[in-house]
Amino acid sequence: MPAKESIVNLESVPALDEIPGRFARLQESVAQVVAKTGREPGSVAIELAVKYQAPESVLAAIDAGGTLLGHNIIQQLEETEQALADANAPRHRTHVIGHVQKNKAGRALAYAQCIETVDSSKLARRLDRLQGERIERGEASHPFDVMIQVNSSGTESQYGRAPESVVDFAGKIAGLENLRLVGLMTIGAHTTDVAAIARSFQIVRELREQIQEAGIASATELSMGMTHDMDIAIAEGSTIIRVGTAVFGPRPQIISQQ
Ligand SMILES: *Cc1c(COP(=O)(O)O)cnc(C)c1O
Repeated sequence: MPAKESIVNLESVPALDEIPGRFARLQESVAQVVAKTGREPGSVAIELAVKYQAPESVLAAIDAGGTLLGHNIIQQLEETEQALADANAPRHRTHVIGHVQKNKAGRALAYAQCIETVDSSKLARRLDRLQGERIERGEASHPFDVMIQVNSSGTESQYGRAPESVVDFAGKIAGLENLRLVGLMTIGAHTTDVAAIARSFQIVRELREQIQEAGIASATELSMGMTHDMDIAIAEGSTIIRVGTAVFGPRPQIISQQ
C-alpha cells in the first residue's frame, strides 16, 4: 500500500534562527508599502499571528523586535504567555483574534490586553460584567479594549457582524462601562480577486468613519490584512496587520485521527 501523502511539509518550516531575518524582511516590506501608498511611517503595526507555534518560535520573533501577538485559541494564549514569562521575554501585548467561547471569556480577559473578535451582544455583556468583577477584585484598573469583528465578505461560515449592524452594535458597546471600543477587525474576502478583497476592507474602513462620526472617538484601529493580502489592506487603511506565515512559515497542521 502506498504511503499516505503527508500534509505536513516540514522542509518549508523555517528553522528558529531564520525567524529574525524573516521578521526583518516583513518589517521592510511593510515599510515599503506604507511609503508607496502615502501612509505615515509607523502607522501600521505588525501583529504576529502565533496559533500552533511553539513558544520558542514566538520568543524568537519577540526577541527580533515583535511587540504584538495575536492568539486564536485561549488555551494556547495561556500556555504561551506562561512560557514567555518563564523565559523572561521582552514586554509585548497580546490580542485575541479567534472566536471566544463564552466559557473562555474570563481567561481571555486575564491573559490578553484586547479581544478583536467581539461579534455578539451576549459576549459583549459577559465581557463587561466579568471585567467589572475584575476591577472590583483589584485585578484590573480600567475598561478592557475590544474590537468588533466584521463579516465584510458576506461568507456565511465566517464569524463577525454583518456590516449593516455594526454602527448600532458599536453604540451598544460604547454604552458598556467596563469595555472600550478601540476599532474594527475583519478577515478579507477569501478570493484571488484583488478588487473584491479591497472592497471588503473598504467596507470596514467606511464603518469606522461612521462610528467616529457617531462620536465614538476611541474606535481608531482597523485590524485587517494577513500574509496574502496585507498589501491590499495597507492600501485600504489598515492600522494592524495580522501576520503568521510570512514570519513562521506554514503552520504545524493537526493531523486528523482516522
Ligand atoms: C492565522 C490568522 C492570521 C494570519 O494568517 P497568515 O496567513 O498566516 O498570515 C490572521 N488573522 C487571523 C484571524 C488568523 O486566524
